[in-house]
Amino acid sequence: MLDIVIVNGQVVTPQGAGAWELGIQGERIAAVGLPGSLPRDGARLIDAAGLVVSPGGIDPHTHLAHAIMSHPDQPSVTLGPEDDTRGMAYGGTTTHLDFVYVRPGVDSIQGAIEQRAARWKGNSHVDYAYHVTLCGSLDLKVFEQIPEAIRAGYPSFKVFTTNVLPPHPGRQGNRLDFGRIGFAMEKVAPAGGLMVVHGEDEDLVQFNYERFRHEGRMDGANLHLVHSKLSELLAFRRTVALARAMDAAVYFVHTSAKEGVDTIVEARADGLPVYGETLHQYACFNAEHYRTPRGFCSHTYPSLKFPEDQAALWHGLVRDGLATLATDEYPTSLELKLRGRTIEDVTGGNVGAEARLGIAYSEGVVKRGMTLERFAEITATNAARIFGLYPRKGAIAAGSDADLVFIDPSVRSTLTRDDFHVTDYSPWEGWTVSGWPVTTILRGKVIVERGRLLGSTSDGRQLTRAIDPVVLRRPAC
Ligand SMILES: [Zn+2]
Repeated sequence: MLDIVIVNGQVVTPQGAGAWELGIQGERIAAVGLPGSLPRDGARLIDAAGLVVSPGGIDPHTHLAHAIMSHPDQPSVTLGPEDDTRGMAYGGTTTHLDFVYVRPGVDSIQGAIEQRAARWKGNSHVDYAYHVTLCGSLDLKVFEQIPEAIRAGYPSFKVFTTNVLPPHPGRQGNRLDFGRIGFAMEKVAPAGGLMVVHGEDEDLVQFNYERFRHEGRMDGANLHLVHSKLSELLAFRRTVALARAMDAAVYFVHTSAKEGVDTIVEARADGLPVYGETLHQYACFNAEHYRTPRGFCSHTYPSLKFPEDQAALWHGLVRDGLATLATDEYPTSLELKLRGRTIEDVTGGNVGAEARLGIAYSEGVVKRGMTLERFAEITATNAARIFGLYPRKGAIAAGSDADLVFIDPSVRSTLTRDDFHVTDYSPWEGWTVSGWPVTTILRGKVIVERGRLLGSTSDGRQLTRAIDPVVLRRPAC
């Protein structure tokens, strides 16, 4: 017997979008059928007339309960899962991937994972998993634990090719040197894992900070010239060359420049397992936006770029080349977000998870002719495939978790503060949308229904992952 039957919706399945009915039994999708074909006796009927029913969103890149490094004299942390995942629930995201940092001094990857998991347990409205971040001048002994971490369900390893933040004031760095990145690839690739790379050229970025200070060009509106297009080009190309030598699969986070997209497209054309992510604010804004009163709300490292880069990102999202749309979620108060104004003290990070699916639908499907199938891919399916959650997550198919978002295409609205449920601002206030998520279902439980929160922080569950070998061998999505 089915618990829920969803009728009259336009349902986005891996085989295409159509007028299917969905049957849910317990936490899973039990059947996808023709209209009128599923047994209704005893089931709750949910009418999705006029709505698009898409797989629950997967945000592959978030930093919740994360130390804020922008103002080392005023230490603080980003909002935790108990706050931010409320926005995810409202915005149709049912799974997020956060990070476990392994820094010098941490001698057990598993221990670091357990510590992070304890922070999430009972505190997340939606399901979650973790990437492992390797940073700093890590003891080589730590790398020996990589195969064991992959076997335990943590097959993605994040590295930074740059310290990201400026040399003044001094901070703990995130960068892993290229020797160690290669060493990580050596361990990760044969064990069935994937590298997640923040690619910027360290020499160039740090030199640019020094040069801009020397020239007195301290205005934060110059960030796109410090975290430059050339820097992305150099780091992406160097990383692809290294990955090719090590037979490693690579996922580039927050691709911001045409040069980054071109590098990914070229590597994929060569048959390499290389994948690209971008962020919705990189696609929707360019560096001119920094000069507006709240422009730094949309800053995330590397930086907003130029109109030609936005065009390349949209092309990558709508057609091919980029695999995912993420947030680099980094929720803070508006005051903290706008505290700095110079290239040395602007606060990076973004609060965007609640808006992610709505913006992708409105800007992608409505404005740029993105197909519904492609919308599902960039917001959910591809992240599930690349990070080893597919087909349990990211697909509307029999046997998959019943994670669903209903999008109402008839919504026409200019977003205001009241449309959001996390912190005291959204960078998307004032943005006009066509279409918005209205109902979210997590593993068969309706957690948001027509704007009412029905779920709680005890709903989210930790996920372990295993990546399909095909994803690691060639461009698989
Ligand atoms: Zn990030």
